[in-house]
Amino acid sequence: MRVLLLGGTGEARALAARLHPDVPVISSLAGRVPDPALPVGEVRIGGFGGAQGLAQWLRGNDISAVVDATHPFAATITANAAQAAAGEGLPHLVLARPPWPDGDAAVVGSDTEAAEVVARHGYRRVFLTTGRSGTAAFKDSDAWFLIRAVTAPEDQLMPAHHEVLLSRGPYRVEGERDLLREFGIDALVTKNSGGAMTHAKLEAAAEVGVPVIMVSRPALPGGVRIVHTVDAAVDWLTGLR
Ligand code: NAP
Repeated sequence: MRVLLLGGTGEARALAARLHPDVPVISSLAGRVPDPALPVGEVRIGGFGGAQGLAQWLRGNDISAVVDATHPFAATITANAAQAAAGEGLPHLVLARPPWPDGDAAVVGSDTEAAEVVARHGYRRVFLTTGRSGTAAFKDSDAWFLIRAVTAPEDQLMPAHHEVLLSRGPYRVEGERDLLREFGIDALVTKNSGGAMTHAKLEAAAEVGVPVIMVSRPALPGGVRIVHTVDAAVDWLTGLR
């Protein structure tokens, strides 16, 4: 058995650690961030060249199962993996952490809708945590944004008034609360990433009374098998052996 583990998340690293060295696993990273946290075991970095390139890669590397543990918003690689695995007749599993409850958040379907909510409510100082590619929808806004991301968005994809905060989680509630107060934030925009690493901002927003605009997850490809925990992914792989 040889498993391709599509990663770039804490869950993928945890799964690689659980499987290594008993199950041969190749972890795959997109190569977007400098100095990524690396999983244990074999790692490859970089795109495959779409679903076809991935299918070819699966064949060429004698892969017998695919686990997609990419971020819930990494929709392109997830669609490609589902297509390539189905085409190659390989067992395929999506490991996705559970979403956060919506709570009192204004739930929207896209970054563009989130930007519309910001404009409609007249929010002036927005904590924007939708990542490097999540700023483009806000670029024509005249509000001020605190943009937190792992790597800086391109200048032309950012709103005119902003400050960039480069960092990666995990975050703590106290720190998030201080940030909201220090910058006089009046709205938080977040993706529904789920997980504990970045949940503190929601607790802090609730404490400080900052409204939350939450972008819901893209739909998964039809018919895929999905589990929400590393344990369940290990069980699934064990059942294949
Ligand atoms: P995406 O939009 O779904 O994928 C864009 C392209 O990047 C894919 O078509 C593929 O290129 C390549 N790619 C993505 N993930 C890959 C992987 N694990 N291994 C090899 N190639 C990969 O992905 P994204 O949203 O940019 O995310 C990129 C990576 O960052 C993922 O590994 C994801 O888990 C991680 N990440 C994403 C987010 C987020 O909010 N989106 C947050 C944290 C971590 P080819 O078509 O050439 O194969």
